[in-house]
Amino acid sequence: MTAIHVLAPEVADAIAAGEVIERPASAVKELLENALDAEARRISIDVRGAGRTSIRVSDDGAGIPADELPLAFVRHATSKVAALTDLDAITSLGFRGEALASIASVADVEASSNGARIHVRAGEVLEQGAGPLVPGVTVEVRDLFANVPARLKFLKSDATENAAIKDVVIAFALLHPHVRFQLSIDGRSTISSGGDGDRRRAFASVHGAVVAAEMLEIVGLPLVTGMVSQPKLSRGTRDGIVLAVNGRPITSRPLAYALEDCYQGRLERGRHPIAAIDIGVDAALVDVNVHPSKREVRFREEGAVFAALQRAVRAALGASEPIHYRAQQTAGVAASREYAPQLVVHGAAVLQLEEGSPSPPAAGVLRPIGQVGPGYLIAEGPQGLVLVDQHAAHERVLYNRLLDRLRTGLGASQPLLMPQAVDLDPSLIAAAADHRADLAALGLEYEEFGPRSLRITAVPVEMPAGRATAAVLETLEALSESRGDQAMHKAAAALACHSAVRFGDVLDPAEQRKLLSDLENAEESVTCPHGRPTRLVVEWQELTRHFRRNY
Ligand code: ADP
Ligand code: MG
Repeated sequence: MTAIHVLAPEVADAIAAGEVIERPASAVKELLENALDAEARRISIDVRGAGRTSIRVSDDGAGIPADELPLAFVRHATSKVAALTDLDAITSLGFRGEALASIASVADVEASSNGARIHVRAGEVLEQGAGPLVPGVTVEVRDLFANVPARLKFLKSDATENAAIKDVVIAFALLHPHVRFQLSIDGRSTISSGGDGDRRRAFASVHGAVVAAEMLEIVGLPLVTGMVSQPKLSRGTRDGIVLAVNGRPITSRPLAYALEDCYQGRLERGRHPIAAIDIGVDAALVDVNVHPSKREVRFREEGAVFAALQRAVRAALGASEPIHYRAQQTAGVAASREYAPQLVVHGAAVLQLEEGSPSPPAAGVLRPIGQVGPGYLIAEGPQGLVLVDQHAAHERVLYNRLLDRLRTGLGASQPLLMPQAVDLDPSLIAAAADHRADLAALGLEYEEFGPRSLRITAVPVEMPAGRATAAVLETLEALSESRGDQAMHKAAAALACHSAVRFGDVLDPAEQRKLLSDLENAEESVTCPHGRPTRLVVEWQELTRHFRRNY
């Protein structure tokens, strides 16, 4: 990094201008970016009065040379870019030289670094001179917007402004696990991340130990890092999703959509994952200079970025586990929000059986025990007792099989002895015509039979003949409601649902065994294609605890 200098007018003009400081959270974001650009390892943020009274950020980064401190508050003064071409490949979070000047124009700011101190209010330097000789930079912003009543009026409630500040800190804490973030709001410690590089620990500091223990880490890809939730952890909102490019949190609907697409068939409708994902993109291939607060970016090769994200997320999701039953749900675990690595007890490695007890089945094998209740199978697995929802399980198995047939184009259908006529809305007849070949790959064949009906001539081999009519209706509705791959996936899910054993069907032992082994061998077997869980595991450990066999 070079000395702070005022940008040449042509460079300043090339910078996306606009409102930089809209609310207290924007000031926090800018100050955190500066600290991270200075390679700080510890950043503490102290907020009072929802950021209107004061925001104090101290870091232990490189600091500002004493004689450059006043310059840092001059508009378009920066040490991060110099020439116009630097804007083509920005590697720092800041680059406009605007943040400190903007903050100081709407607040009372005191900053100190390297033994120097400056006090600026509403853009006027009030004092400058000697300051404390401490590492890094400390900036205190007081009375934000006191001189812009209009802006003050637009602020939301304290709770909302505090939540926005917290979200900013959370995003950076999750994306930068090697930096210790400490946020205190009105004297109360709100976030304290470990800063030891342990991503899971960073997650624990934000989402609690229980969630952190169950997150899946993205591994093995140099450019995509982060964690994503298994299907069994989900949220009713998208608030748990943090996406970033080169360490910079961004909002991007298409990227969020690409992420959620990976959960297609794993999460129920209306549920969203928890995630923090950072995508490394060559600085020359991403333009961060498109939005005043740098929230949005433009990719040169958008498709490649989405593909990298999806590859990474899908690979991580491969390690998803079924839901494990917890008797004392989270008691003692959630209470201590500290992340303790020994909480991750779901591996078979935990299993310790007394000598002489019957040896459990090998990994990947479920020993059927029987059918209970209206439609559950009980089995013994290596980790413990496994309860299976027979319909959800069969749906998953059939769905995967149907998708395979779709991929290969090799259908497996059974002709109906008595073709069945179905009356349909013309839009559904059109949907069928549009997807005729794909439907045949799924095993569904038909003839047109007048303008408002189809005659079904064949259905997937697995489908009981009596269900053809309802299945066709729902399949075509699925097709007409979605587009592209999604449409065929939904159609396959509808066919799987109508072909699967029902909740309530009696299965003989051979059928039970077959279903359990098919389920064990199925990919993404943790949920049915609609995102409902297929099974619940009651670990041996859980039983041991319950029956007090642990002492
Ligand atoms: P920008 O970050 O776009 O360069 P800012 O107004 O945020 O603009 O900061 C101006 C300059 O002040 C930066 O370029 C940097 O040299 C210096 N600076 C600001 N905050 C810090 C900090 N926490 N640590 C080190 N240098 C800083
Ligand atoms: Mg900055």
